[in-house]
Amino acid sequence: MKMKTKLIHGGISRDNYTGALSVPIYQVSTYAQEKVGKHKGYEYSRSGNPTRFSLEELIADLEEGIQGFAFGSGLAAIHAVFSLFEQGDHVVLGDDVYGGTYRLLNSVLKKQGLAFTIVDTSKPEEILAAIQPATKAVYLESPSNPLLKISDIGLIAKLAKENDLLTIVDNTFATPYFQQPLTLGADIVVHSGTKYLGGHSDVVAGLATTNKPELAEQIGFLQNAIGGVLGPQDSWLLQRGIKTLGIRMEELSTNAMAVANLLSTHPSVATVYYHGLPTHQGHEIAKKQMTGYSGIVSFELNEGLSPATFVESLKIFTLAESLGAVESLAEIPSVMTHASIPKELRLKAGIKDELIRLSVGLEDIEDLTEDLLQALTLASM
Ligand SMILES: *Cc1c(COP(=O)(O)O)cnc(C)c1O
Repeated sequence: MKMKTKLIHGGISRDNYTGALSVPIYQVSTYAQEKVGKHKGYEYSRSGNPTRFSLEELIADLEEGIQGFAFGSGLAAIHAVFSLFEQGDHVVLGDDVYGGTYRLLNSVLKKQGLAFTIVDTSKPEEILAAIQPATKAVYLESPSNPLLKISDIGLIAKLAKENDLLTIVDNTFATPYFQQPLTLGADIVVHSGTKYLGGHSDVVAGLATTNKPELAEQIGFLQNAIGGVLGPQDSWLLQRGIKTLGIRMEELSTNAMAVANLLSTHPSVATVYYHGLPTHQGHEIAKKQMTGYSGIVSFELNEGLSPATFVESLKIFTLAESLGAVESLAEIPSVMTHASIPKELRLKAGIKDELIRLSVGLEDIEDLTEDLLQALTLASM
């Protein structure tokens, strides 16, 4: 099945009992058992719920995994995956991962004895240099947030395997529509379903999947043992969003490329970060491992111009955190999404105070262009 078809017919796309084309919302916590220990596969909704299961089968299908897991948020999914590790273990972490992922490691898991080293995963030699005897995994985002840095997932997975490490990829920015890390060699994929997969700014959710049976068993155990599962209503909503992922990603990508081109040639803009631009650091690798470019464009204004004036002057782009929905959003990572990362680490990763991140949506590109141009004019006065 091709991807656009799989988005609609993958997983368990209908209700076997009634034929309903939308899997029902099984709003239930427990299930009748015929005899002691004899049931229809469901005992209690933390351990399993048919609506959630349908979504879990779908993400596994889309990412070429063998089993999927749905959580109450992206961070809950990431937390469950990091719970594979023990006190004394060490992981190598990408330097511009989602701010909340850094906070989870630095403020929660470090106290519990999980150590980590931050490197630029777009430079594989930095990963190799950070490996210690206790290292168990490499964790990365590609494209990364907010600089759209591209890491060579296939190469990293190969190096990781040679060193007995797992490769874990947060595939939120690319989505399985544009990139499938498991097929490139990664072991585990995590997602914030809140972003492109949901796509309508109406649900917070997380997903994980793997193609390794022993990891699937462990993540399944952790999902139930920690308990951060996604509820049936949100599972249904996320699945509904995923059905239109293909057409949304195609359109978003076209809009984002137009925005990146517009900004690249504008006299008030100093630097544009977009993996679809041939001048971007990782463009060649992106072209090799992705089938399209995502909808995030980051950029810096010329020195002396005010990023706050720019984002506050926008009329169609909404000043807001989050990304990946039908609405175009704008934000300043240093004071919004990435404020939990200490300034020196942020600057080292290249995330300047002036950086602006746009999540390009599905509005008409002429309106988006006009909006950006008028805000650039105001910011340049
Ligand atoms: C938003 C985001 C997360 C966290 O997901 P939540 O659903 O907000 O918990 C993780 N990774 C990336 C890349 C994100 O954009």
